[in-house]
Amino acid sequence: MDLICPYCEAKMEDPDDNINHNVSDHEWRCGYCDKNFIFSVEYEPIYTSHQVPCLNGEPHDYQPATNVNYVICRHCHKAKLKEAI
Ligand SMILES: [Zn+2]
Ligand SMILES: [Zn+2]
Repeated sequence: MDLICPYCEAKMEDPDDNINHNVSDHEWRCGYCDKNFIFSVEYEPIYTSHQVPCLNGEPHDYQPATNVNYVICRHCHKAKLKEAI
């Protein structure tokens, strides 16, 4: 990933080690034309996985959903119509 100065289009060294990942905008000074600019970082998508027992033969664990007519499984997030009592 290259950071390009928006003024002189010089390629910066990868600033990755020096930036605070908790903020999206970073102030930077171009070492070539000495102008300050702001850059933001976009990251590759990160995949997270977790165990889903109800996709492996266990019963769904239904919880009340935002829509009162439905319950939603807290593991697989599948909704189903609430059964009439
Ligand atoms: Zn520059
Ligand atoms: Zn489920």
